[in-house]
Amino acid sequence: MAGRNGLFVPGPTNVPDRVLRAMVVPMEDHRSPRFPALTRDCLEGLKAVFKTSTATPFLFPSSGTGCWEAALSNCLSPGDMVLVARFGQFSHLWVDMCHRLGFEVQVLECEWGEGAPLERYEAALAADTAHRIKAVLVTHNETATGVTSDVAGVRRAMDATGHPALLFVDAVSSLASIDFRMDDWKVDVCVSGSQKGLMMPAGLGVTCVSEKALEARRRTARQPVCYFDYIDMQNQNRNGYFPYTPPLPLLYGLRESLAMLAEEGLENVFRRHAYLAGGVRAAVQQGWGLEVCAKQPQWYSDTVSAVVVPAGTDAARVIDRAFRRYNLSLGAGLSKVAGKVFRIGHLGDCNELMLMQAIGGAEMAMIDCGLPIEPGSGVAAAQRHWRAHEAEASGTT
Ligand code: PLP
Repeated sequence: MAGRNGLFVPGPTNVPDRVLRAMVVPMEDHRSPRFPALTRDCLEGLKAVFKTSTATPFLFPSSGTGCWEAALSNCLSPGDMVLVARFGQFSHLWVDMCHRLGFEVQVLECEWGEGAPLERYEAALAADTAHRIKAVLVTHNETATGVTSDVAGVRRAMDATGHPALLFVDAVSSLASIDFRMDDWKVDVCVSGSQKGLMMPAGLGVTCVSEKALEARRRTARQPVCYFDYIDMQNQNRNGYFPYTPPLPLLYGLRESLAMLAEEGLENVFRRHAYLAGGVRAAVQQGWGLEVCAKQPQWYSDTVSAVVVPAGTDAARVIDRAFRRYNLSLGAGLSKVAGKVFRIGHLGDCNELMLMQAIGGAEMAMIDCGLPIEPGSGVAAAQRHWRAHEAEASGTT
């Protein structure tokens, strides 16, 4: 197909040319005296992204899923109880992993499209007077439904009950795009990956671990862990090295993407994502007369919108048409919402006119599939939104 593919899945995201160029490097000795400077630049840069001065970032050669496993295996013991809300495919997969690793899982079942149920977290913690729950898990941004949850609220629920459990947060599709605060929210492990807000290829598990969680690893945790051992990683990282061969080009790419985030300013990056998301939602709601999957505005995600197609329409056909006819990649509906939604990722290295491509292409694909959409309606609504909200667009030029 001629022209560039329009990549609007919610990860992997578009990799900026600067980052692509930074990754074209000859291989080198990862035990040379020159190497530690690269490791340190990456880890120091990540502290700013995680908003921490006290916790320790780690980079594992894995994707985000590896960091889930690292969190559970480093900090817990066989049979420990975890508390987790399930409201989409990724929170579901986290629950599934907890089961498969042998933990006792207390699941707060929610409707897909809802966010973390703060009162129910608090009630479950208050009821656990014996403190059997060792970790509270929350997915900050549920990528399957386009729902952002209030992590600070979960922390407040924990504090209100005086519960000592660790707080694990999945920030795979929020880190470096939506405000996340490791220290302020007293998060014990934050789990993320390189291929979304960090504007990189997949391949780096990006995580950050509090002193409390490291202490659990050292003193109480008995779950077997080897490849993902925080202590091995910490011991080697201290001198700028890794316990095994690191993916060198990805580290060079990460250093560049962290520099780009710092140049734009993290708060401007968040503002840009909120502003762009507003335009996408205007296209969906005002232009097309459709709805997003997130059930309430408080849960609207600034990184991904899951667009609900009218009953009787198969969203998979729209996605297929967009790809085959217009060389446009939209995100699929996963599991429970398969066929019901298509997703537009608006995170990472993107701007208004890139998103016009996604909105215009989705619009044409929907019309081709017989949906009663007025040509240009989504594009017009997004234009109106962005032109009216220019002041919020800091960092977009
Ligand atoms: N958690 C969330 C919220 C995600 O969106 C994803 C992937 O899209 C994952 C976890 C899994 O991450 P990975 O595919 O990097 O293993």
